[in-house]
Amino acid sequence: MKLDILTIFPELFPPFLAHGMINRAIEKGLMEVQIHDLRDYTTDRHRSVDDVPYGGGAGMVMKIEPIHSAMKAICPKKGNQKRILLSPQGKVLSDSMARVLAGESSMMLICGRYEGVDERVREHLVDEEISIGDYVLTGGEIPAMVIMEAVVRFIPGVLGSHDSLAEESFSKKWLEYPQYTRPAAYQGWQVPDVLLSGHHENIRQWRQREALFKTAKQRPDLIDWTCLSHQDCEWLTRKGVHIPESIIKNKVEGSFD
Ligand code: SAM
Repeated sequence: MKLDILTIFPELFPPFLAHGMINRAIEKGLMEVQIHDLRDYTTDRHRSVDDVPYGGGAGMVMKIEPIHSAMKAICPKKGNQKRILLSPQGKVLSDSMARVLAGESSMMLICGRYEGVDERVREHLVDEEISIGDYVLTGGEIPAMVIMEAVVRFIPGVLGSHDSLAEESFSKKWLEYPQYTRPAAYQGWQVPDVLLSGHHENIRQWRQREALFKTAKQRPDLIDWTCLSHQDCEWLTRKGVHIPESIIKNKVEGSFD
């Protein structure tokens, strides 16, 4: 994947690119990242990338001309590259979006600053607008890094083993089961016996249930309650999870089992 980052703070990226899985992807030639300083595409002697908003109001707005000039210079044919604007107004990034983006051969991430970008960038120049969550940051550089982190894991060949992807949170819509490592006991806090038993089937079942429990407790919105078995519902209730009344009633009557 070829990735072009458009930013007014190019110096933020090299340390990020030099570590971890992103670095591994670059070293393996699976990802090529180019950082572009937006100011290199300005034409005035102050290298201005922002101006006051029409109609008044606080703050500055990023100008369209440097952004468009950069796009034309970096990838002249619009359709040949997916152009993504980082913005709190965009669709919120998810695991499934990251998976789809990993299939792109070329992407540009446009990092906003100040009060954001001239609306015409949204209207005419980009293909997609992505947010990393419902909060406002001061710039798009960290969101661009978040997208890179989320996407790189899905580029074939980057992860050592695809098994590790399959077990991750969200890969099957549920959160990942609890993980432990040595020592088996620490200050009296024990690793669950089943994980030390060496019994693979029991471990598999325990992990499945614990993933369900964790998800039901922390992210009940991820669960399709109608697909749970009567036993799972009973077990969750015993563990203190509140299950919607209508679901319990239907389960007891057996209409979903
Ligand atoms: N005034 C803008 C608004 O209300 O939508 C917010 C501008 S924000 C201060 C400056 C830049 O930070 C944005 O243009 C965007 O690139 C980036 N940014 C801030 N929050 C973000 C988020 N949650 N996801 C992605 N990018 C974000």
